[in-house]
Amino acid sequence: MQILDRPSPNNGPRGIDPVDVLVLHYTELPLRESLEILSDPSREQRVSAHYVLAEDGAVYRLVPENRTAWHAGRSRWRGREALNATSIGIEIVNLQGDRHDYPEAQITALIELCKAIQQRHPAIAARNVVGHSDIAPRRKIDPGRRFPWQKLAASGIGLWPRAGARPIEGDVQAALQRYGYAPPNEIDPADIVTAFQRHFRPEKVDGAADAETRARLADLLDQVGGRA
Ligand SMILES: [Zn+2]
Repeated sequence: MQILDRPSPNNGPRGIDPVDVLVLHYTELPLRESLEILSDPSREQRVSAHYVLAEDGAVYRLVPENRTAWHAGRSRWRGREALNATSIGIEIVNLQGDRHDYPEAQITALIELCKAIQQRHPAIAARNVVGHSDIAPRRKIDPGRRFPWQKLAASGIGLWPRAGARPIEGDVQAALQRYGYAPPNEIDPADIVTAFQRHFRPEKVDGAADAETRARLADLLDQVGGRA
Protein backbone atom coordinates (compact mmCIF):
# COMPACT_ATOMS: atom_id res chain seq x y z
CA MET A 1 0.00 0.00 0.00
CA GLN A 2 1.31 3.35 -1.08
CA ILE A 3 0.92 6.04 1.60
CA LEU A 4 1.62 9.63 0.66
CA ASP A 5 1.95 12.24 3.39
CA ARG A 6 -0.09 15.31 2.60
CA PRO A 7 -0.54 17.01 6.00
CA SER A 8 -3.66 19.03 6.76
CA PRO A 9 -3.67 21.77 9.42
CA ASN A 10 -7.29 20.91 10.22
CA ASN A 11 -6.85 18.74 13.30
CA GLY A 12 -6.88 18.85 17.07
CA PRO A 13 -5.73 16.89 20.10
CA ARG A 14 -7.32 13.60 21.11
CA GLY A 15 -9.11 13.27 24.43
CA ILE A 16 -8.51 10.54 26.96
CA ASP A 17 -10.87 7.99 25.39
CA PRO A 18 -9.41 5.39 23.04
CA VAL A 19 -10.11 5.41 19.31
CA ASP A 20 -12.86 2.83 18.82
CA VAL A 21 -14.84 3.89 15.73
CA LEU A 22 -13.85 3.82 12.05
CA VAL A 23 -15.96 6.06 9.82
CA LEU A 24 -16.05 5.63 6.04
CA HIS A 25 -17.08 8.46 3.72
CA TYR A 26 -17.16 9.29 0.06
CA THR A 27 -15.74 12.62 -1.02
CA GLU A 28 -18.36 13.61 -3.60
CA LEU A 29 -15.51 15.45 -5.33
CA PRO A 30 -12.46 14.45 -7.39
CA LEU A 31 -9.15 13.82 -5.65
CA ARG A 32 -7.49 17.21 -6.05
CA GLU A 33 -10.47 19.25 -4.88
CA SER A 34 -11.00 16.86 -1.98
CA LEU A 35 -7.41 17.22 -0.79
CA GLU A 36 -7.68 20.99 -1.06
CA ILE A 37 -10.90 21.28 0.92
CA LEU A 38 -9.77 18.80 3.57
CA SER A 39 -6.63 20.84 4.22
CA ASP A 40 -7.99 24.36 3.80
CA PRO A 41 -7.68 26.31 7.08
CA SER A 42 -9.65 29.31 5.82
CA ARG A 43 -13.09 27.75 5.38
CA GLU A 44 -15.83 28.71 7.79
CA GLN A 45 -16.37 25.03 8.50
CA ARG A 46 -12.92 23.50 8.57
CA VAL A 47 -12.96 19.83 7.65
CA SER A 48 -10.45 17.04 7.33
CA ALA A 49 -10.00 13.29 7.48
CA HIS A 50 -7.15 11.05 8.51
CA TYR A 51 -6.91 9.51 5.06
CA VAL A 52 -8.08 10.18 1.53
CA LEU A 53 -8.20 7.14 -0.70
CA ALA A 54 -7.80 7.79 -4.42
CA GLU A 55 -9.59 5.76 -7.06
CA ASP A 56 -6.34 4.04 -8.04
CA GLY A 57 -5.76 2.93 -4.45
CA ALA A 58 -3.19 5.56 -3.45
CA VAL A 59 -3.58 6.53 0.20
CA TYR A 60 -3.04 10.15 1.26
CA ARG A 61 -2.38 10.70 4.97
CA LEU A 62 -3.67 14.11 6.07
CA VAL A 63 -3.92 13.79 9.84
CA PRO A 64 -1.92 11.45 12.11
CA GLU A 65 -4.05 8.88 13.89
CA ASN A 66 -3.11 10.29 17.30
CA ARG A 67 -4.82 13.57 16.40
CA THR A 68 -8.53 14.32 15.90
CA ALA A 69 -9.68 14.94 12.34
CA TRP A 70 -12.91 16.79 11.56
CA HIS A 71 -14.98 14.47 9.42
CA ALA A 72 -18.02 13.27 11.34
CA GLY A 73 -19.77 16.48 12.40
CA ARG A 74 -22.91 16.02 14.43
CA SER A 75 -22.92 12.29 14.95
CA ARG A 76 -24.00 9.55 17.29
CA TRP A 77 -23.29 5.84 17.66
CA ARG A 78 -23.99 3.48 20.54
CA GLY A 79 -25.06 6.35 22.77
CA ARG A 80 -21.98 8.46 22.21
CA GLU A 81 -22.06 11.76 20.38
CA ALA A 82 -19.57 13.93 18.51
CA LEU A 83 -17.51 10.99 17.33
CA ASN A 84 -14.55 12.88 15.88
CA ALA A 85 -12.65 12.65 19.16
CA THR A 86 -12.73 8.84 19.22
CA SER A 87 -12.76 7.92 15.55
CA ILE A 88 -10.63 7.60 12.47
CA GLY A 89 -12.10 8.95 9.25
CA ILE A 90 -11.36 7.79 5.72
CA GLU A 91 -12.60 9.83 2.77
CA ILE A 92 -12.90 7.63 -0.31
CA VAL A 93 -12.85 9.42 -3.64
CA ASN A 94 -16.21 8.76 -5.27
CA LEU A 95 -18.58 11.31 -6.75
CA GLN A 96 -21.76 9.73 -5.42
CA GLY A 97 -21.77 6.22 -4.03
CA ASP A 98 -25.40 5.64 -4.91
CA ARG A 99 -24.53 6.10 -8.58
CA HIS A 100 -20.85 5.22 -9.05
CA ASP A 101 -19.20 1.92 -8.27
CA TYR A 102 -15.99 1.81 -6.28
CA PRO A 103 -13.08 0.55 -8.42
CA GLU A 104 -11.56 -2.75 -7.35
CA ALA A 105 -8.06 -1.28 -6.83
CA GLN A 106 -9.56 1.27 -4.46
CA ILE A 107 -11.40 -1.34 -2.40
CA THR A 108 -8.35 -3.60 -2.26
CA ALA A 109 -6.34 -0.69 -0.84
CA LEU A 110 -9.17 0.23 1.53
CA ILE A 111 -9.26 -3.28 2.98
CA GLU A 112 -5.52 -3.18 3.56
CA LEU A 113 -5.73 0.26 5.17
CA CYS A 114 -8.63 -0.72 7.43
CA LYS A 115 -6.84 -3.88 8.56
CA ALA A 116 -3.79 -1.86 9.52
CA ILE A 117 -5.93 0.66 11.40
CA GLN A 118 -7.73 -2.13 13.27
CA GLN A 119 -4.40 -3.60 14.30
CA ARG A 120 -3.27 -0.26 15.68
CA HIS A 121 -6.61 0.35 17.43
CA PRO A 122 -7.96 -2.95 18.74
CA ALA A 123 -10.84 -1.13 20.50
CA ILE A 124 -12.50 -0.72 17.09
CA ALA A 125 -15.13 -3.48 17.33
CA ALA A 126 -16.57 -4.85 14.10
CA ARG A 127 -19.90 -3.09 14.62
CA ASN A 128 -18.01 0.18 15.04
CA VAL A 129 -16.90 0.16 11.42
CA VAL A 130 -19.59 2.51 10.17
CA GLY A 131 -20.57 4.78 7.33
CA HIS A 132 -21.20 8.46 7.79
CA SER A 133 -24.86 7.65 7.06
CA ASP A 134 -24.96 5.30 10.06
CA ILE A 135 -23.88 7.96 12.53
CA ALA A 136 -25.69 10.94 10.95
CA PRO A 137 -28.98 9.54 9.59
CA ARG A 138 -30.86 11.71 7.08
CA ARG A 139 -28.13 14.38 7.19
CA LYS A 140 -25.61 12.14 5.42
CA ILE A 141 -25.89 9.35 2.85
CA ASP A 142 -22.22 8.50 2.27
CA PRO A 143 -20.55 6.14 1.47
CA GLY A 144 -23.66 5.21 -0.54
CA ARG A 145 -25.58 2.15 -1.62
CA ARG A 146 -22.88 0.90 -3.96
CA PHE A 147 -20.27 0.75 -1.24
CA PRO A 148 -19.25 -2.93 -0.88
CA TRP A 149 -19.89 -3.47 2.82
CA GLN A 150 -20.44 -7.18 2.29
CA LYS A 151 -17.04 -7.59 0.66
CA LEU A 152 -15.37 -5.71 3.50
CA ALA A 153 -17.08 -7.88 6.09
CA ALA A 154 -15.87 -10.98 4.26
CA SER A 155 -12.35 -9.56 4.71
CA GLY A 156 -12.84 -9.06 8.45
CA ILE A 157 -13.84 -5.40 8.39
CA GLY A 158 -17.25 -4.68 9.84
CA LEU A 159 -20.25 -7.01 9.98
CA TRP A 160 -22.69 -8.33 7.42
CA PRO A 161 -25.99 -10.09 8.20
CA ARG A 162 -26.24 -13.81 7.49
CA ALA A 163 -29.30 -14.90 5.54
CA GLY A 164 -32.29 -16.66 7.02
CA ALA A 165 -32.59 -15.20 10.50
CA ARG A 166 -36.01 -15.01 12.13
CA PRO A 167 -37.20 -11.39 11.87
CA ILE A 168 -37.01 -9.40 15.06
CA GLU A 169 -40.40 -8.69 16.60
CA GLY A 170 -41.64 -5.70 18.51
CA ASP A 171 -40.12 -2.25 18.63
CA VAL A 172 -37.74 -1.99 15.69
CA GLN A 173 -36.43 1.40 16.83
CA ALA A 174 -35.40 -0.06 20.17
CA ALA A 175 -33.61 -2.87 18.33
CA LEU A 176 -31.85 -0.40 16.03
CA GLN A 177 -30.68 1.52 19.09
CA ARG A 178 -29.36 -1.69 20.67
CA TYR A 179 -27.23 -2.15 17.59
CA GLY A 180 -25.93 1.42 17.71
CA TYR A 181 -28.24 3.78 15.84
CA ALA A 182 -29.45 7.05 17.34
CA PRO A 183 -33.01 7.41 18.61
CA PRO A 184 -35.19 9.40 16.18
CA ASN A 185 -35.24 12.52 18.32
CA GLU A 186 -35.29 15.22 15.68
CA ILE A 187 -35.90 13.07 12.64
CA ASP A 188 -38.49 10.62 11.41
CA PRO A 189 -38.18 7.01 12.64
CA ALA A 190 -38.15 5.94 8.99
CA ASP A 191 -34.89 7.89 8.56
CA ILE A 192 -33.20 5.53 11.01
CA VAL A 193 -34.54 2.50 9.16
CA THR A 194 -33.29 4.07 5.94
CA ALA A 195 -29.81 4.52 7.41
CA PHE A 196 -29.78 0.86 8.44
CA GLN A 197 -30.90 -0.23 4.97
CA ARG A 198 -28.29 1.92 3.22
CA HIS A 199 -25.66 -0.12 5.01
CA PHE A 200 -27.15 -3.57 5.41
CA ARG A 201 -29.92 -3.90 2.78
CA PRO A 202 -28.87 -1.57 -0.05
CA GLU A 203 -30.99 -3.29 -2.69
CA LYS A 204 -34.13 -1.84 -1.15
CA VAL A 205 -33.88 1.41 0.79
CA ASP A 206 -37.36 2.66 1.53
CA GLY A 207 -37.52 3.29 5.28
CA ALA A 208 -40.03 0.48 5.80
CA ALA A 209 -39.07 -2.00 8.52
CA ASP A 210 -40.25 -5.01 6.52
CA ALA A 211 -39.55 -8.66 7.32
CA GLU A 212 -36.21 -8.75 5.48
CA THR A 213 -34.99 -5.61 7.24
CA ARG A 214 -36.04 -7.09 10.58
CA ALA A 215 -34.37 -10.39 9.78
CA ARG A 216 -31.07 -8.73 8.94
CA LEU A 217 -31.22 -6.62 12.08
CA ALA A 218 -31.99 -9.75 14.14
CA ASP A 219 -28.94 -11.53 12.80
CA LEU A 220 -26.66 -8.56 13.39
CA LEU A 221 -27.88 -8.36 16.98
CA ASP A 222 -27.19 -12.07 17.32
CA GLN A 223 -23.66 -11.50 16.07
CA VAL A 224 -23.04 -8.88 18.75
CA GLY A 225 -24.97 -10.69 21.48
CA GLY A 226 -27.65 -8.00 21.67
CA ARG A 227 -30.88 -9.62 20.47
CA ALA A 228 -32.63 -9.44 23.87
ZN1 LIG B 1 -19.07 11.95 5.09
